[in-house]
Amino acid sequence: MKNISLLGATGSIGLQTLEVIREHPQEFSLYAMAFGKNIEKALPIIKEFKPSLVAVSDEQSRRALLAEHPRLEVIAGNEGLEVISIEPAVDVVVNAVMGSVGLQATLKAIEAKKQVALANKETLVTAGHLVMEKAKKHGVELLPVDSEHSAIFQSLNGEARNDIRKILLTASGGSFRDKSRQDLADVTLDDALKHPNWSMGAKITIDSATMMNKGLEVIEAHWLFDVPYEEIDVVLHKESVIHSMVEYKDNSVIAQLGTPDMRVPIQYALAYPSRLELPKSKRLDLIEIGKLHFSEMDQQRFPCLRMAYDAGKEGGTMTTVLNAANEIAVEMFLTGRISFLEIEELIQRAMDKHETISRPDLGTILEVDHQTRTKVLSYLD
Ligand code: NDP
Ligand code: MG
Repeated sequence: MKNISLLGATGSIGLQTLEVIREHPQEFSLYAMAFGKNIEKALPIIKEFKPSLVAVSDEQSRRALLAEHPRLEVIAGNEGLEVISIEPAVDVVVNAVMGSVGLQATLKAIEAKKQVALANKETLVTAGHLVMEKAKKHGVELLPVDSEHSAIFQSLNGEARNDIRKILLTASGGSFRDKSRQDLADVTLDDALKHPNWSMGAKITIDSATMMNKGLEVIEAHWLFDVPYEEIDVVLHKESVIHSMVEYKDNSVIAQLGTPDMRVPIQYALAYPSRLELPKSKRLDLIEIGKLHFSEMDQQRFPCLRMAYDAGKEGGTMTTVLNAANEIAVEMFLTGRISFLEIEELIQRAMDKHETISRPDLGTILEVDHQTRTKVLSYLD
């Protein structure tokens, strides 16, 4: 039995992680959970899974929770994410919060030598070098939940690093795959929120439409698998059946395939190194699919992908700026304050204005993250 601490329990990945726990009561138990403010979604989770410890983002949410569950142990504030990541009784920390707010919890979980299932890709984009150094120091293997990285992880199993020629990340193309640059000028929020293949949280759905999600994933792959940016390619693959691939020096390409179902990478990361059953109804039926399509990714058409490569190659604090500017720009788009194409403009502007600091420590990263958010907001005044 593994005790799980789930950060972001009320979100898209959080709820699917709970499905995996529900389906495997002999293997997993929810020991602790964190969420932001969504009390309505949290209450039934607490009732069903009876966690011993709950972290919420603010005091008001803590009081609302205690009104319903007076004897529950509830911690308020961002440090709650850290507290529930180092609890001695916890075996696996699933980090599924949205945004760089998850960084310190990931670092603490590694220090405490927990098994870390990482969905929170912003953690690696904002401070990949700190996370990977810590993981190495404490002998902790990070288990990716992101479907592409889970596919790469599985395709790399046991192979020598110097036998790899390329990582081939697949991209579905997001909501606006078939639109031209001109068409994008007046797309609406509702259009952007309709992803063709996956149902996900609002921020990552917008990231998929701008292609920033793939950019963040390129940086995530660079850190997780220690591969230079020149050896990471993105391939457009609209069916989302091949979740990603690794090409080796003998021209062999190894891939992981499946129907688009986030429970597969989630339960792989939870149960690692074992595999668990899933219903046969969700099997991949290759005969029914018939054909798979691949095409080249156009970085002119999707400038956010180009910006992510630029930031990654520049290194240091530039990826912190990319991530923070993107988080704010997407929030502004989601709240109707800017248009779709202004997202990329704001990020580019923040990057152009930034003087990179190389090998930043945690304090510097947090400072640059904060300053970038303030600066991007000031562009709108
Ligand atoms: P959601 O927006 O659906 O959920 C985010 C979760 O984080 C919610 O539970 C939210 O709580 C919680 N949260 C936000 N801020 C805080 C905070 N300050 N303290 C505590 N909890 C907080 O996001 P997703 O599930 O879509 O994505 C989560 C992460 O997983 C992201 O990094 C994303 O890129 C990654 N990912 C997601 C995939 C998907 O299919 N959804 C696929 C691959 C990766 P509340 O509800 O109360 O606001
Ligand atoms: Mg992904």
